[in-house]
Formats: sequence, structure tokens, C-alpha cells
Amino acid sequence: MNIFVTRIIPQKGLDLLNAAGFEVTQYTEKKELSQEELISACKDSDALLSVGSNKIDEYFLQQCSHLKGIALMSVGYDNVDVEAATRYGVPVSNTPGVLSGATADVAFLLMLAVSRNAFYMHNSIGKGDWGFYEPTSNLGQELNGKTLGVLGLGRIGTELAQKCKAAYYMNVIYHNRNPNAEAEQTLAAQYVSFESLLKESDVLSVHVNLTAETKGLFDKSAFNQMKPSAIFINTARGAIHNENDLLEALENHIIWGAGLDVTNPEPMNRNHPLLSMPNVCVLPHIGSATVETRDNMAVMAAKNIIAVLQNQKMPQTINPEVYQN
Ligand code: NAP
Repeated sequence: MNIFVTRIIPQKGLDLLNAAGFEVTQYTEKKELSQEELISACKDSDALLSVGSNKIDEYFLQQCSHLKGIALMSVGYDNVDVEAATRYGVPVSNTPGVLSGATADVAFLLMLAVSRNAFYMHNSIGKGDWGFYEPTSNLGQELNGKTLGVLGLGRIGTELAQKCKAAYYMNVIYHNRNPNAEAEQTLAAQYVSFESLLKESDVLSVHVNLTAETKGLFDKSAFNQMKPSAIFINTARGAIHNENDLLEALENHIIWGAGLDVTNPEPMNRNHPLLSMPNVCVLPHIGSATVETRDNMAVMAAKNIIAVLQNQKMPQTINPEVYQN
């Protein structure tokens, strides 16, 4: 049995696949495979371990319907046509949970960094601009007792809310499609409408999945409803906010600041005006990038591949309907 792995992954995942007796081909070039290259690489493979944003769409699935399974090394699966995967009989798995703590840490880091203009202050020293001390200069905002609004109080959103409550006694409000009864009990989180979330949040952090419903949700009209003192954080997917509208909202002081781990497009252009704004902190999509988390993600993806190649269900299947066919 052959497994094609689209990028270099932690050795712990490869060791598991090798120990199970599978042959692994790992693509090691530092560039994205084109769809045709990926299809060609999968022709002689039994399973695919996919890292990054390769499109697993109708065309790919039609060409690669022989695959016994596809394991994503991510929790997000907006690059997958789930319905088509089920139709072609290909189980697809993701890596939920193991990256929640690390990603929530990045949202927390961005929230704190934006609240004190930290990245801009750091860069200004290198530019010889330490500045003359005045009690009215370089002022940030405190987070203590403020209201955290979470769009998407799922695994990562809940981890962030816990951290914000523990560190800063923040009140938590949230909006999902369905109320999260457990979080309401453990975090005293309050369910609100999307409009109320926009209006009431001091920090608004985005943790929804990218779908047709959430694409472009944070546009001019959304930013216009937020507080002038609000901080916008997005660690979910860049396409959930409109980057030009965000820039305009920041330039016109419609909102106070923004922290992004995800941009649209990625990578962000190095000359993007957001990168030189005092109240903006941007990171290059490093939410899950810790040694421990990446090891756990590789191990989880490998276990899903091993299961499917041993004719079992993948433990983290995103299209369980596929097993009913
Ligand atoms: P999750 O547990 O499924 O949480 C997603 C939450 O969003 C759920 O509470 C869901 O609740 C809510 N939601 C989904 N669609 C919605 C909609 N249309 N309107 C309102 N709420 C909606 O997922 P997770 O594990 O926390 O991951 C969330 C996302 O984070 C992933 O999809 C991925 O894109 C991103 N992520 C980024 C990084 C990074 O490196 N920056 C790392 C990991 C994950 P309902 O179903 O009740 O609506």
C-alpha cells in the first residue's frame, strides 16, 4: 500500500505509517503542487495525506476516486468538496481538537499584542524611533473586565474564552447557529444575535469555519456596527473578512485595531498597508505551529490513514455518510 504525503510532516507521523508496513512517498519541494501534479502523484497511491490548501474538488475526486481515503492535516476543510467525496466513496478525515489550544493561544497573543500596539512598537525601535517619553503617548487599552465576543464558540473559540476569563475576567458573549449549552454553563457565556455580537464586543474573535455562509461576513457593514474601541481578531480563515473593508475601517477609526493570523490572499503582500499600521498585528498563519501540536496533528492524520487502509472507519471522518454506501 502506498501513501502520498504532500509536504514534509513531523517524523512521528511518518514513523507510524512505516511501522504499519506502508510505503510513504513524501513531496519535499517548498512549493504548492498544482492539481494536475497532485492527481498524477495519487495515480499509484492508495491513500493521500494532504497538508495545506490543495483543492480536493469534484475534478480531483473524479480523477482519484480509487483512493481509499484522504487524511487532512488540518481541522479546517474548506478546500474539500465533502458532498463530492461522499459521492465518489472517498472517506476524508481532519484533525480536530489537537490544535485548539495552540490556535487559541495565537488569538490570545494577537488580542494582547493589538491592545498594546506591540508589533508596531517593536518595529519602531529598529527604525530608531524609540520616542520621547510622554505620559500621553504610546497608549494602549486594558482588557480587564471587557467583553469578549466569539463568532463560532466551538473547540478553539471555547479555549480562547477560557483563557480570557481566567486572565482578564472577561465577559463572554457568542454567536453560533446553535446555542452551546455546555459553554453557557461553564463559561457563563451568553448567546447573542450576530448584530448584538458586533455592537457589544470589545474584542471580537472569529472562530467559525469558512463556508458559503461565512465568506466575507466581516465587510464594511459589519465593521460599521462595531464599537470605535473594538479589536477584531481573525485566526479562522482570511476569506471571512474583506481585507479592503477592514483597512478602511481601521484608517477611518471605525474600529480600534485588528489582529490577523489569516489573510486574504495568503501570503499577504509584503507592502500591504495593514502591515505598517500601529494597531494591527499580522502573523503568517501560525495558529497550530508548535512542536507538540504539529506532532499530534501528524500522528492523528497517520492514524486515520492506517485505519482506512486496514478497512476500518477513519476515527475523524468528516463525511461519515460515506460508510453507508
Ligand atoms: P469547531 O469546533 O467546529 O467550531 C466552529 C464553530 O463555528 C462552531 O461552534 C459552530 O457552531 C460555529 N459556526 C459554524 N458555522 C457558523 C455560521 N455560519 N454562523 C455562526 N456560527 C457558525 O471548529 P474549530 O476546531 O474550533 O476550528 C474552527 C476553524 O478555525 C477551522 O474551521 C479552521 O478554519 C480554523 N483554524 C485555523 C487555524 C490557524 O492556523 N489559524 C488552526 C486551526 C483551525 P454551530 O454549528 O452551532 O453554528
